[in-house]
Amino acid sequence: MRLLLIEDDASLARVIVRGLGEEGHAVDHVGTVAGADEALSIHEYDLMVLDLGLPDGDGARLCRTRRSQGDTTPILMLTARDDLSDKVAGLDAGADDYLTKPFAYPELAARVRALLRRPPSSTNPILMVDDIRLDPAAHTVTRGAILVPLTPREFSLLDYLMRRSGEVCRREDLLDHVWDANYDGLSNVVDVHVANLRRKLQGPGMDDPIETVRGVGYRIGGLAA
Ligand code: CA
Repeated sequence: MRLLLIEDDASLARVIVRGLGEEGHAVDHVGTVAGADEALSIHEYDLMVLDLGLPDGDGARLCRTRRSQGDTTPILMLTARDDLSDKVAGLDAGADDYLTKPFAYPELAARVRALLRRPPSSTNPILMVDDIRLDPAAHTVTRGAILVPLTPREFSLLDYLMRRSGEVCRREDLLDHVWDANYDGLSNVVDVHVANLRRKLQGPGMDDPIETVRGVGYRIGGLAA
C-alpha cells in the first residue's frame, strides 16, 4: 500500500517511515500542509497519517478540505495532547481514527492495519447530485456553497433520494424507509416533508431539484443520458 505521512517531527517521522516500510508499505513523508497538498496532487494514497499541528497549518483543516472534495482515503490523525477537544476536532473533520502522542510504534502499526483492512464500502462516501452535496458522516447538506439546515427526517429523506438519484422513489418506499413501516400518521406526510425539503434546498434564483412524478413519487437528479 502507498501511505502518506504528514508529520513535522522529524525523529518521529523517521520511526514511522521505517516501521511501515518494514511492513511492506511505500511511505511518502512530508512535514507541511503545502507538502501534503503537493503529494496528494501527484499520487493516490491508500491511507494518510496526519499530524494535527503542522508548521504551516492544521491537520484538521487539511482533513476537512480533503473530505469536502470527496476524498475518502482513510485518515489516522495524530494529536499532540490528550485533549478531548483535539480528538473531537479530528473526528469531526472526517478522520477515521486518532492516536495521542506519545505512542508506541506498534500501536500506530495496529491502527494502520485496522484502517487498511476496512472495506471501502464501510466508509461513508459523500453523495453529490448536481450542486447538492450530502455528507453522511458530518450530517451536513450544502447546495453550492450554502449550508442547508435540515431536520433529521428531512436529512434521511434527501439521503434516500440521493442514493437513488435518477430513479423514481415511490411514496410508499419513502414512507417505509424514511419513516417506519408501521407509521400510521398523516397519509400526506411524505408530500409535506418533500415540500419542506424543496423550500430549504431552493435559494433565491435556484431551480427545484426534486421532480414530482405524478401518481408515483419523487425523483432527484437527472435521468441517465
Ligand atoms: Ca506537529
